[in-house]
Amino acid sequence: MVQVAGVASVISSDRIREAAVKFPSFRVLLIKYEEFLFSQVQQTAACNAVHKVQARACSWLLRMQDLVGVDLPLTQEFLAQMMGVRRTSVTEVAGDLQKAGMITYGRGQIHIVDLKQIRHSACECDEDIRSHYRRMFDSGRVSKNEISLVDEGRRSSSPMKGRKPQPAGREPPRPKCRDHN
Ligand SMILES: [Zn+2]
Repeated sequence: MVQVAGVASVISSDRIREAAVKFPSFRVLLIKYEEFLFSQVQQTAACNAVHKVQARACSWLLRMQDLVGVDLPLTQEFLAQMMGVRRTSVTEVAGDLQKAGMITYGRGQIHIVDLKQIRHSACECDEDIRSHYRRMFDSGRVSKNEISLVDEGRRSSSPMKGRKPQPAGREPPRPKCRDHN
């Protein structure tokens, strides 16, 4: 599902598979990204179950701001769908955030005014996801150790399946959720 309009590139799965076989670093990146995505899904599920709507909305706004900027072409209806809550809950939260000077919103448009305050009001999930991303990708390099871990996985099962490279000290964060507000 596309959450916000933008430019995207498309590549066939056959070409991706070819590139993954040919370039070990690319293969490792794909697998790391898959792991990151999976841990993000886990974190979001825990977040949805435990955290208050306002804290979740702030986390979501931070994520969107990273991807799109401070002007978000989003309706409240859509935001409600994304967060799995009723539209009235989003209206209430958007009103509170606007009163607090954090955002302004109009027809199909949310503008982030005070990022610092939004960060302060967000649940810890946004920071957990960010720090996990940094741990996994910020070095910008794939180590030989990571490549050999992936290749061991490939030898013991079919390509691109059944592998779980876990370089030492890099466990995906366990979703930890405490209540906010
Ligand atoms: Zn959360």
